[in-house]
Amino acid sequence: MQILVIEDERELRELLEYGLTSLNFKVTGAGNANDALILVEEGIPDLILLDLMLPGLQGLQFLDIVRRKNQTVPVIIISARTGEEDIIKGLEHGADDYLPKPFSMRLLEAKIKAALRRAGGSPAHSGTIVSGDVTVDPESRRAAVAGEAIQLTQKEFDLLSLFVRKPEKVFTRNQLLNTIWGYEAELVSRTVDAHVAMLRKKLGARGAWIKTLPKIGYLWSAGG
Ligand code: CA
Repeated sequence: MQILVIEDERELRELLEYGLTSLNFKVTGAGNANDALILVEEGIPDLILLDLMLPGLQGLQFLDIVRRKNQTVPVIIISARTGEEDIIKGLEHGADDYLPKPFSMRLLEAKIKAALRRAGGSPAHSGTIVSGDVTVDPESRRAAVAGEAIQLTQKEFDLLSLFVRKPEKVFTRNQLLNTIWGYEAELVSRTVDAHVAMLRKKLGARGAWIKTLPKIGYLWSAGG
């Protein structure tokens, strides 16, 4: 499950990234809501933690945009504004929950799990995805080429799922690093290249469907 943390206070953001990563969530951090919109449009997060007072686009404005586009991704507001009016306003703007700062990681974890349970998994992430004769099932984390199961590592599976969900979309190495690896130690783009190379090998002839864009990144093009 991928969690997007939109928080401009760097220390808190990093603390959340660290805490949630150790709870086995994949985490992407954003210091402002404008950057975050792009990630939401790509259907990347399964849940969003949203600070309200941000530089540029404000938390509630962000929420309005997301909900206007019928994005149903669960949003939990995390805010130092703890008045009843603030909480009601947040929920009315389309937040699923509201967590006043400061809060414990235990409470945050419980709120996240409850929100994910209610959402029943993001629609973009349920059901088998088919691209050409390559199938990916996010529930069982199984992948197959022409009906034959292939054995992938966790990261290879995540890479393939991302590719087949967004055919013809260009992913830069940095996007892949942020999305698949999230907050993990120092990683270089060679990590992405190495995993793509392994994934290609395991896909056999279908490995050619992962196109390299020199100096940019990769995209999935079935049948090409
Ligand atoms: Ca803030």
